[in-house]
Amino acid sequence: MGIQYYCRHCGDKLGEVGFEHYGRIQATLVELTEEERLFFLYKDNKVVNVITICESCQNTLEENPHYYQYDTFLQ
Ligand SMILES: [Zn+2]
Repeated sequence: MGIQYYCRHCGDKLGEVGFEHYGRIQATLVELTEEERLFFLYKDNKVVNVITICESCQNTLEENPHYYQYDTFLQ
């Protein structure tokens, strides 16, 4: 049980950290802009999922900025 990171585009699990990092991650989220809050947290059975973006999808988006309009361009 802990905090698990997933890519919102391809769904890959990016990593997992312990709950001791929860406060720091929450503090980071508070500083986000509205657009960046697409990366959100939710709790489910004591697992916190952080929806973010993986390096591969980030690179794709940087090369193809128009893909930003699609939530799931990689299936
Ligand atoms: Zn991805």
